[in-house]
Amino acid sequence: MNLKSIFLSLFLILFTWINASSQSVFKNDDLEISKLEDKVWVIETTDKTTMYLIEGTDKAMLIDTGTKCEKLDEVVHKITRKPLSVVVTHAHGDHDGNIGFFKEIYLHAADTVLLGKTYKGKVHFVKDGDVFDLGGKVIEVSHMPAHTPGSIVLLDKQAGSCYSGDAFGSGQVWLQLRPFAPMRTYINSCKKMEKLMDEGITKIYCGHYPYVKKAYDKAYITEMRTLAEALVNGTAPKATAHPQKVSIGSENPMMVTHGGATIVYDPEHLK
Ligand SMILES: [Zn+2]
Repeated sequence: MNLKSIFLSLFLILFTWINASSQSVFKNDDLEISKLEDKVWVIETTDKTTMYLIEGTDKAMLIDTGTKCEKLDEVVHKITRKPLSVVVTHAHGDHDGNIGFFKEIYLHAADTVLLGKTYKGKVHFVKDGDVFDLGGKVIEVSHMPAHTPGSIVLLDKQAGSCYSGDAFGSGQVWLQLRPFAPMRTYINSCKKMEKLMDEGITKIYCGHYPYVKKAYDKAYITEMRTLAEALVNGTAPKATAHPQKVSIGSENPMMVTHGGATIVYDPEHLK
């Protein structure tokens, strides 16, 4: 081994070490921010909710706001100072919990039934097909109702990425929550997502990333859709009672699993 190759080896070791240790870019008592892709960060909270931060050349976007994170606006500023659009995938408290730190948010109008009365800022409504041009990165809204009436996913078609909130769950999709949607609504959202994945979306980053630590591929959505169809047709595996009841949920939540997909549902609202 000559001197040149020794230096090269040392450089490679150093580069690998720096690369591995630079994934986490910020941490406090509430959350940890890590680089996920070029100009994309995942923000994982201690209660296992997730936000995503995307930066273009002109603007930035924060997807969801977590449950309780002190001074979230200042935390985001540590990563980007570009003008920020805060988009909430749906109005559940673990996704819109810190909207109070921001003067305006974007939300689908169908979820205003779930939005609390305490937010004093401006709510802009988004709909299917709306786009946010961040400069070099275009993020598109796609409406995927069922988990909530106004659940949306955010698509970066150029990167092949989808930020899905809870629309397809994080291993387990919750459809046992009020106002209940018929299972057919969820099946249709799965079909819409499968089509988007046929057209180039390859990675689904879910709303509770700490549980899975990976992007889902199309097989996950297909498994979900197949299981939902089996529930409607009465051919699903045997369901069991779901151990957790939440205040806005069914009195009798049931769950059924097939492969990597679990659906939690209200038996009164299957059809
Ligand atoms: Zn939710």
